[in-house]
Amino acid sequence: MAVQLPIFMDNHSTTRVDPRVLEAMLPYFTDDFGNAASRTHAFGWKAEAAIEASRETIARFIGAESGREIVFTSGATEADNLAIKGIAEYYGAKGKHLVTSAIEHKAVLDSCKRLEKDGFSVTYLPVGKDGLVEPAAVEQAIRRDTILVSVMLANNEVGTVQSLEEIGKITRAKGVLFHTDAVQGIGKTPFDVRKMNVDLASLTAHKIYGPKGIGALYVRRSRPRVRLVAQMDGGGHERGNRSGTLNVPGAVGFAKALELYEREGAAENERILGLRQRLYDKLTGRLEKVELNGDWERRLPGNLNVSFSFVEGEAMMMAIKDVAVSSGSACTSASLEPSYVLRAMGLDEDLAHSSIRFGIGRFNTEEEVDYVAELVAAEVERLRAMSPLYEMYQEGIDLKSIQWSAH
Ligand SMILES: *Cc1c(COP(=O)(O)O)cnc(C)c1O
Repeated sequence: MAVQLPIFMDNHSTTRVDPRVLEAMLPYFTDDFGNAASRTHAFGWKAEAAIEASRETIARFIGAESGREIVFTSGATEADNLAIKGIAEYYGAKGKHLVTSAIEHKAVLDSCKRLEKDGFSVTYLPVGKDGLVEPAAVEQAIRRDTILVSVMLANNEVGTVQSLEEIGKITRAKGVLFHTDAVQGIGKTPFDVRKMNVDLASLTAHKIYGPKGIGALYVRRSRPRVRLVAQMDGGGHERGNRSGTLNVPGAVGFAKALELYEREGAAENERILGLRQRLYDKLTGRLEKVELNGDWERRLPGNLNVSFSFVEGEAMMMAIKDVAVSSGSACTSASLEPSYVLRAMGLDEDLAHSSIRFGIGRFNTEEEVDYVAELVAAEVERLRAMSPLYEMYQEGIDLKSIQWSAH
């Protein structure tokens, strides 16, 4: 079967809504369109029942005790903001120090930056070349005035999966709250809030074949009971934690997306892992100097992040316009700084600029992987053939020894 262009291989940025998810959502736009906060009629009751069922599904999926621990939000950006600022505001009198990692999503990092402006201090833990946080470093960073540790389940650029169970043991022993941005790992790597002693967890539907605009924050209600200050004022929805009329079709779609993972996740992750291996084998079989970014084992099944030395990521993406991937080269921001995640892992600027992130997902096929591998390999060869640096490398000149003259 011929592949259809363009090919979407950027499943860390978002995902296609699964048709079964859409089907589950549709009645809640038209027939069952009630406001879940309407207590006085059947339209409201039906919407509320759908919301409560969705809450239970989400709670069950992450190992929470009850649906009452799920606070619906507009997505993970809002959930991260609510967790970090909401905790800081509630526990700020107890202490003004937070611990997080240098490779968190911007929603976490920028929330921390905001808190720093408000008088809090934040420790940004480094990661190794493998893209992993050392649990021992978390332990060392915790001070008497630390109120929260926030470390993500899996990274959105390099797919590395952090040791949450070990970190959770430390935070619990020290009596510090533990938040995780679990967005990328949900359904793809084991996650259990009770087993991992997680107190708050951010989730979003659109990275797991659900709709955009719906997410959730898990907030533990016992051992310990976690309190936070709402960041949105209004009708007091979500037990006062997040005002605003609930997105009923969104919540239904979110839960349906998780039900699909419950039934099919294990087989799907196996299949995607096979595709990832196939892509990597084809690329490295044909090309030299393909550098893997991040740990190979502790990684999401669909993530392949590699640097093609001597090739600019930007040029690469232009050359493969029919394939949607991402690059660690900064094209969206005004700065020329490459990915802060790769830089934190110790990559030099050139290699960071040469990186490509492939995000393989549910709807990718073996044919697509073969097409992408062939196209990418051919374009890397073509671009390298034009690179004077690559020519020097082939002639055996040590590029690091060269004194470049400034003009
Ligand atoms: C996509 C993403 C977010 C943001 O989620 P939205 O629902 O789009 O706001 C947060 N954290 C991680 C790790 C992500 O990958």
